[in-house]
Amino acid sequence: MASEAPVETFAFQAEINQLLSLIINTFYSNKEIFLRELISNASDALDKIRYMSLTDKSVLDNNPELYIHLQPNKADGTLAITDSGIGMTKADLINNLGTIARSGTKAFMEALSAGADVSMIGQFGVGFYSAYLVADRVTVVTKHNDDEQYVWESQAGGSFSIRRDTEGEPLGRGTKIILHLKEDQKEYLEERRIKDLVKKHSEFISYPISLWTEKTVDKEVSDDEAEEEEKKEEEEGKVEEVKEEKEKKTKKVQEVQHEWDLLNKQKPIWMRNPDEVTKEEYAAFYKSISNDWEDHLAVKHFSVEGQLEFKSILYLPKRAPFDMFDQRKKPNNIKLYVRRVFIMDNCEDLIPEWLNFVKGIVDSEDLPLNISRETLQQNKILKVIKKNIVKKCLELFAEVAENKDDYNKFYESFGKNLKLGVHEDSQNRAKLADLLRYHSTKSGEETTSLKDYVTRMKEGQKAIYYITGESRKAVENSPFLERLKKMGYEVLFMVDPIDEYAVQQLKEYDGKKLVCCTKEGLDLDESEEEKKRKEELASQFEPLCRLMKDILGDKVEKVMVSHRVVDSPCVLVTGEYGWSANMERIMKAQALRDNSMAAYMTSKKTLEINPENAIMNELKKRSDADKSDKTVKDLVLLLFETALLSSGFSLDEPNTFASRIHRMIKLGLSIDEEVEEGLGAADDDLPPLEEDAAAGEGSRMEEVD
Ligand code: ADP
Ligand code: MG
Repeated sequence: MASEAPVETFAFQAEINQLLSLIINTFYSNKEIFLRELISNASDALDKIRYMSLTDKSVLDNNPELYIHLQPNKADGTLAITDSGIGMTKADLINNLGTIARSGTKAFMEALSAGADVSMIGQFGVGFYSAYLVADRVTVVTKHNDDEQYVWESQAGGSFSIRRDTEGEPLGRGTKIILHLKEDQKEYLEERRIKDLVKKHSEFISYPISLWTEKTVDKEVSDDEAEEEEKKEEEEGKVEEVKEEKEKKTKKVQEVQHEWDLLNKQKPIWMRNPDEVTKEEYAAFYKSISNDWEDHLAVKHFSVEGQLEFKSILYLPKRAPFDMFDQRKKPNNIKLYVRRVFIMDNCEDLIPEWLNFVKGIVDSEDLPLNISRETLQQNKILKVIKKNIVKKCLELFAEVAENKDDYNKFYESFGKNLKLGVHEDSQNRAKLADLLRYHSTKSGEETTSLKDYVTRMKEGQKAIYYITGESRKAVENSPFLERLKKMGYEVLFMVDPIDEYAVQQLKEYDGKKLVCCTKEGLDLDESEEEKKRKEELASQFEPLCRLMKDILGDKVEKVMVSHRVVDSPCVLVTGEYGWSANMERIMKAQALRDNSMAAYMTSKKTLEINPENAIMNELKKRSDADKSDKTVKDLVLLLFETALLSSGFSLDEPNTFASRIHRMIKLGLSIDEEVEEGLGAADDDLPPLEEDAAAGEGSRMEEVD
């Protein structure tokens, strides 16, 4: 007798251990999903070996058939799930089943405690552990072509063991998962239950799934055999009855027979006529390829024929996955098949990155079977397929957009992707622009499309106006909107950081320029009369503008009169092609930003003053009277800093600003500076008011204090 190989024991990684306790100790009624998860793993393992066999047939030698077997054993209380897939080496066992946690491990636990359903487990890449929903002990026997057969086993409780399998039945190649079912989970030994589950959750697995069934049959026993039986029975003294049957020369006996019962039809759903596929079937297929627990939001099933042939089903999920913008995440969710044979998951060149949330399959008639990731990149067929997929996705989005509720849901989850698309896909930019939605000065709680915006444009309105900023609240009452609102022009609120990038590429819609109302070049139409009045005011305010520029120095590019604002005294405007205030904020927030870029993109700010504003008029009066009025200087700096804030910039020196405000407050409260000084107040803390702003001037301005 062969001696048992030594057993090695390993501790589960801490998070996995936590997950296991949670699975074992928390009450979930929806335990049945374990079977779907294990079958899905079996199917993945089969995909891997089949893919390898395309270039090297010999990998199948140890076990030529590709199958999944389900074998309940009532006597032992076990259910075994066996596949002839790729199997696991000893190292795979250690890494994949216990010591290396995936990012999803923790995320799944958090989701569970937030009320998520346990059936979501597959999405988080930890489906294997669902075995412990129904089993208190799990044994994994596995054989990989590159290693010996091993047995992994664990009753959870912190550790698992691995030993070489020297005595067990050889698998040839593949994996057998034996679930030692908990006392109250014996229902999973029932054939009916298993059949229903496979039908419900695993119908679209593309490998044969067979169930080991037990049948009791009446068997006709031939004459000779009957005589044999007879003799035995005679000995046992049952001669009487048998005599009668002897006339017939045969007899019936009951016999227990076992056989493999095929549970799934494997005709791929995409090969069927779309008219004949039900909504439920699409949903079931979606779940089987996506691990999603919810139905899809929308689906497109199509085939392309002609010079190139392929079939495809594309799905939109109802919500974004937990790790959509995780850089380490797989590039996309499209499975590539070639003439019904699974080739690879997330094939990179099949769909652009901004569509990485679309799930589905593509089955090509033209690609060679032995195509590899490397050769795919240059493949022309693939490029054409990709183009078609993007086109179909856009059609699908447009279809979803016909239903407002659905589209809102979709846009909330994937609006960022569409904007990324606007930024990256110049060919489809116009179509994508139709899909954008924004809040605006006229949209209220709803959002508006650009198309609807255009229908509301006032007569004579040349451009589509927008404002960018940190949030809707931050832009809603911006001084930049004053004039436009007064003219009845609608302004779109672009408050997603990615809007800044998208709008830079979009530039126009339906022949109308998109104009940022915080930048130069607003160019609003004016009557001759208005123009004349403006010129007049400009010349009247010219000395004040010059003085302000002197006081502010390099802080601003220029100071000029403008009619952009109605109520506010002034605003800071940025260059048409430079960064907006919002973009400056975004770039500052990026830790790894390139400073050289900042140097020439950082907005050159123009201070635009409102000649109709009372503050500006008073300021003008005072400065006309006395050019070196120290209050004027102080106020100009204060106005500038306030304009920074109201125009969406941040303050470089918030404390200086605060000090200035405090001084104003004291003035308002009539607190005498000198008295306070006498009392020993820390007035020294106050920074000089003009700082370096005046340094450019020949004569350094005296400080206010
Ligand atoms: P996922 O399937 O999302 O990778 P699981 O927790 O279901 O996560 O499985 C973990 C890993 O264990 C798999 O990625 C695979 O490497 C390995 N594995 C599980 N079941 C099998 C199997 N039947 N054959 C081969 N490898 C398997
Ligand atoms: Mg899995």
